[in-house]
Amino acid sequence: MIITIDGPIATGKSSIAKQLAQEIGFIYVDTGAMYRCLAYSILKHGISPSDAPSVINHLDTFKFDIKIRQGKRSYFVSDTNVTDIIRGEEVTSNVSEISAIKEVREKLVNLQRDFSNGINAVFEGRDMGTVVFPGADVKIFLKGDPIVRAKRRYNEFKQKYPEDFHDLTLEQTIDEINKRDHHDSNRKISPLKQAEDAIVIDTTDLTIEDIIAKILEYKDSIPYSA
Ligand code: C5P
Repeated sequence: MIITIDGPIATGKSSIAKQLAQEIGFIYVDTGAMYRCLAYSILKHGISPSDAPSVINHLDTFKFDIKIRQGKRSYFVSDTNVTDIIRGEEVTSNVSEISAIKEVREKLVNLQRDFSNGINAVFEGRDMGTVVFPGADVKIFLKGDPIVRAKRRYNEFKQKYPEDFHDLTLEQTIDEINKRDHHDSNRKISPLKQAEDAIVIDTTDLTIEDIIAKILEYKDSIPYSA
């Protein structure tokens, strides 16, 4: 069974997908981390995100892996553990431009589909229910008030990466998420949008536990045999 969770920034997608997968014994796949790893690799090689031909050229040599390190899911590009750095400012502010390139999406979508073969998984991203797994058994689209989402993201950054983000203001966070959501929702290929058959959950006033309970209630209500 495949469960897809899509939505804009800071709707709680990752926390919800991770916790949900753990509760029901599914594999959790954070597809945003794949785009972030690619963005890291491109920047590391001195390639400009706006130089599409060079970005596309780089796809052939891009090597990405997920391993468990100290009990924690860790992302590797070639042999470098990039788990923390892909959440930093540089990757975050460049990832949307790179993920809008058609060939980039083709490569990562193929990897995501290959990975889904024969497994029960929760896939989280922007185009999971619309493009990558249009036939998914359960599709969830999360939304939420933009200011509430920006506050969540601001608090998360301050708590997890106090040194990197000590100068960050709430206004800058609002700007950053508006810009990235706008870019992700308006790109030509696979824009962020709700699948017609997705269940929409407004996360503004709900806890993660409330949202998971809603998803499980829906999942248990659909006829499925596998
Ligand atoms: O989910 P996260 O914020 O880590 O995603 C980082 C970026 O990767 C998004 O802003 C978007 O540009 C891109 N992305 C995408 N398609 C996905 C997942 C992420 O284009 N399925």
